[in-house]
Amino acid sequence: NSSQTFVNDPETDFAVPENQERMQKALIAVRSELGLTVPIVIGGKRESSEETIDRADPSDTSRIASRMSCATRDQTERALVSAAAAFPAWRDTPPSERGALLRRTAQELEKRRFKIAAWQVYEVGKPWREADADIAEAIDFCVYYADEMERMTAPRRRDIPGEWNSYIYDGRGPAVIIAPWNFPLAILTGMAVAALVTGNPVILKPAEQSSRVGYFLMEALEAAGVPAGVANFLPGVGETIGPVLVSDPRVALIAFTGSKDVGLSIIKAAAETPPGQREIKRVIAELGGKNAIIIDEDADLDEAVLGVLASTTGFSGQKCSACSRVIVVGSAWEAFQSRLAEAVKSIRIGPAEDPATTMGPVVDEASRERVQKYIAIGKTEARLLAQANVPAHLEDAGNYVPAAVFYDCQPEGRLCREEIFGPVLAVLRAPNLDEALTMASDSPYALSGGFYSRSPANIERIRREFRVGNLYINRKITGALVDRQPFGGAAMSGVGSKAGGPDYLLQFVVPRTITESV
Ligand code: NAP
Repeated sequence: NSSQTFVNDPETDFAVPENQERMQKALIAVRSELGLTVPIVIGGKRESSEETIDRADPSDTSRIASRMSCATRDQTERALVSAAAAFPAWRDTPPSERGALLRRTAQELEKRRFKIAAWQVYEVGKPWREADADIAEAIDFCVYYADEMERMTAPRRRDIPGEWNSYIYDGRGPAVIIAPWNFPLAILTGMAVAALVTGNPVILKPAEQSSRVGYFLMEALEAAGVPAGVANFLPGVGETIGPVLVSDPRVALIAFTGSKDVGLSIIKAAAETPPGQREIKRVIAELGGKNAIIIDEDADLDEAVLGVLASTTGFSGQKCSACSRVIVVGSAWEAFQSRLAEAVKSIRIGPAEDPATTMGPVVDEASRERVQKYIAIGKTEARLLAQANVPAHLEDAGNYVPAAVFYDCQPEGRLCREEIFGPVLAVLRAPNLDEALTMASDSPYALSGGFYSRSPANIERIRREFRVGNLYINRKITGALVDRQPFGGAAMSGVGSKAGGPDYLLQFVVPRTITESV
């Protein structure tokens, strides 16, 4: 409960044989479920759709992982009716009850932990440890936002003789939650439970690539006792149902995490006020990144190489916080480049279900083609330093790409400016820290960033001047933890809200001041 200090849910240690066994069992169980159709849930009832989309297992594209029902226009309309009807009662449900729902949801996710991880392996190609970490993060969001809600609703009175003053928070209204596939449970859960605990019914729109994993959240909420209509699950094609949801006058709140282009189009659409709309819509948008790590001349290069490698190739570079640029200062270059090249060549590419895999596939064929396109661009704009090896027998078996590192990159080139969302790294050289900082900051995005150095003065300067949402010094730049490292970017990386941080819930509420003369 809230009197305790928040503690992050520990990740599963797969070095423990018992945990390995549980995961292997879960993988076997899930293999027999592959291909099942993911339903739509509206007002507590399951529905299907004539149109479905099959998602192939990224590690072995000959098998179907999940089959997603595509919500129709009519189903979208009914989900909106359902969420709008549920609003008044949910807004007026005591916050402590809403918080209790989140705590029970955390327990339900914990019960399904290995199964959800196994589904992530097959649906999005996420290797074991990262799949497990995604579930730990989802659990953290539930518990942390339940705690935060209790903190926010502690009575705040400013009474004086003859006058009572109170200050309270209401839900805003029906919330549309649009999620990406790369943290398929955690991001959907974080946005959804923040809306729920603050009194807003939700329509959950998972990404097409990860509807089965998203459906686990719906199941956990139901098992935890969410009232019918307060949570609706609406898988479907984003380009079709997204604009309908976003521009509907009944919607008060949109929480979106995904690409910059889609996010900006949502912000534009939400600014319209069609007839019947009462609220000015609130949009919370968390977008992309083009994150840089600066390697100082006196950096511990062994640590720096490990951190760069983990930040660039973790989940095959498919993280908004991933490192995609490295800027090496002065004389550090020679030693750094040779060690980095060796490290890249040692990456073990393989299927996500194999615990020995250090880098799995990318999520789908479109992503594979995009990464290959940027590797080809790299070969014209820059020079290839090193590339990981895709084993021959896997070449055509799944969406495998090599991790690739380029040097002599052009700061204005596409490799240095565009979000690739894959394991491709552009390395730049700077004569001094001034120029390194200018290069690192020269991006429309400002999400995460890193600095490796042993110099206290330089570290102090970077703390002041490297203005990104999440700055990491002498460690990797991915893997933010709820509460410890509230996460989110500025500039074109988003509106600056911090998921898993103390200000996040404030975006989901309307405050009211009540004064009574007595
Ligand atoms: P995406 O293509 O923008 O899709 C995100 C979600 O938006 C999906 O559910 C998608 O549905 C939906 N969508 C697509 N078109 C829409 C429209 N016109 N209106 C409303 N919704 C629409 O992004 P993604 O490929 O899933 O995720 C990768 C991106 O997310 C990267 O740019 C990454 O940096 C960013 N990201 C940011 C953060 C952060 O915290 N800042 C975290 C994770 C990821 P469909 O699946 O049906 O297309």
